[in-house]
Amino acid sequence: MFFSLATTAPQAADLGYLLQKHPERVFRKSLSVGEATVFYPEATDDRCEVCLLLEPDSVKLARDAMKHGNGGGYADAKPYLAGSLLSVAIGRCFNSALGGRAKEKTERLTEDWPVTVSVPALPCRGGPDAVRAAFEPLGYSCDFAAPPLDPERPEWGDSAVHQVTLTGRQPIPAVLNHLAVLLPALEGDRHHFIGDAEVEQLVRRGGEWLAEHPLRDKLVAFSLKRKPSLIAEALERLDAAFADESTEEEPDASNEEGGEVAPAKQPRVRLPKLHTLRLDAIRDVLAEPARGISSVVDLGCGEGKLLRKLIAEPRFTRILGMDVSAPQLARTEERLKLDRSDRRERVTLIQGSLTLRDDRLSGFDAAALCEVIEHLDPHRLDLVAASVFGCAAPKVVVLTTPNREYNAVWEALPAGTFRHADHRFEWDRAEFAAWTDAVAARHRYAVERRPVGEEHPDHGPPSQMAIFTKTSTRAAETGEDG
Ligand code: SAH
Repeated sequence: MFFSLATTAPQAADLGYLLQKHPERVFRKSLSVGEATVFYPEATDDRCEVCLLLEPDSVKLARDAMKHGNGGGYADAKPYLAGSLLSVAIGRCFNSALGGRAKEKTERLTEDWPVTVSVPALPCRGGPDAVRAAFEPLGYSCDFAAPPLDPERPEWGDSAVHQVTLTGRQPIPAVLNHLAVLLPALEGDRHHFIGDAEVEQLVRRGGEWLAEHPLRDKLVAFSLKRKPSLIAEALERLDAAFADESTEEEPDASNEEGGEVAPAKQPRVRLPKLHTLRLDAIRDVLAEPARGISSVVDLGCGEGKLLRKLIAEPRFTRILGMDVSAPQLARTEERLKLDRSDRRERVTLIQGSLTLRDDRLSGFDAAALCEVIEHLDPHRLDLVAASVFGCAAPKVVVLTTPNREYNAVWEALPAGTFRHADHRFEWDRAEFAAWTDAVAARHRYAVERRPVGEEHPDHGPPSQMAIFTKTSTRAAETGEDG
């Protein structure tokens, strides 16, 4: 597996600084997938070319494939093809450059370099059209040669594997990110396990260019093996890309090459999750001074992401998290460091179910249900309403749930599937309005609905929020109702 990147930029050999690989040295690295070698056939001020060669460890790969139930065999054609393994090698050999970091010449990281990338054997299910559709919107022009399968036997036709040359003007980190994301997506079948880490990586490497790519949804779907929940997560995050600059997640700062690195001039794009937007929206409502809320119960608190945000607000002096899952609560307790003396008094976790009336939930100013109701069977929602609005009856209840209409925006999400395997339903805006109005009327609350996330002109926002405020004076005074 092989690709080369050549440039005729002024002081072309500066490429070595950006890649953190000295042009006069051969760099070798043992990877889980095989042996990688980086070398420069040419490095002058006029032209510089770097090559990455990966010699896959077929025995190890076959063993891994069998571990994951994918069969696999020693005599696989894969060793010759660029694709997901080459992407792994790019990630491991050029990690800093991928992240837009270098030790020296950092000012050249954002410069557009004239580049020619050649991939001598690119497996691509969709042929040249698919390669063009993937790379041309990013500003590359693509050339193809399909060598005959066997020069001696022209009747066998051309190989399905293409020799591809991409030319364009791009910043070096962008070229690497494009290759790292698109080579495996074009290959179309990934042998190794795909999980949250791959979503994280895809969003980090894809960032803005992938968010704006006309084939975004397809590329995301191919990259994530068409797993609906992972696709939804990735698309949510790419959608949120321009909604907010801040996020609590720190980008992966690991540096494969070792040593100190200087940050690139241009800040890295940081992508908040839609979930972060929801949590922030809930926190902001609860923290509005006029509401005078000092105690909050987080119902279905899960891993405690909202609790963490509430803890950070000194105005909340009493915080209760409830969830039905005991193992989850144990993890949350540890994660939130609730054994710290300043937290022990202020924050409590309890196991309980939303479908049962529970006196422990009484006496709080506010309750939050962040992405919880859709995890319950619809016929049990009346019980939830009776417990939350009737029995616990706080002044304010804030609740969020997905807007099903928005799923249509994510073409890659197979029609009719939910965003997460555990969802029992997902409502459109009208269904959400009907249910929240009915609950408000029944339990004497006023309700206001707000969008969460960027609204689509036809399909509305990705998530929807309702803010219930108690209107009954009797209940407001005594904190009890029903
Ligand atoms: N609010 C959290 C978690 C949402 S996931 C967040 O936004 O990050 C839904 C959570 O609801 C899970 O933690 C699940 O254990 C919990 N849950 C499901 N059914 C429940 C029930 N009947 N009572 C209480 N919690 C429940």
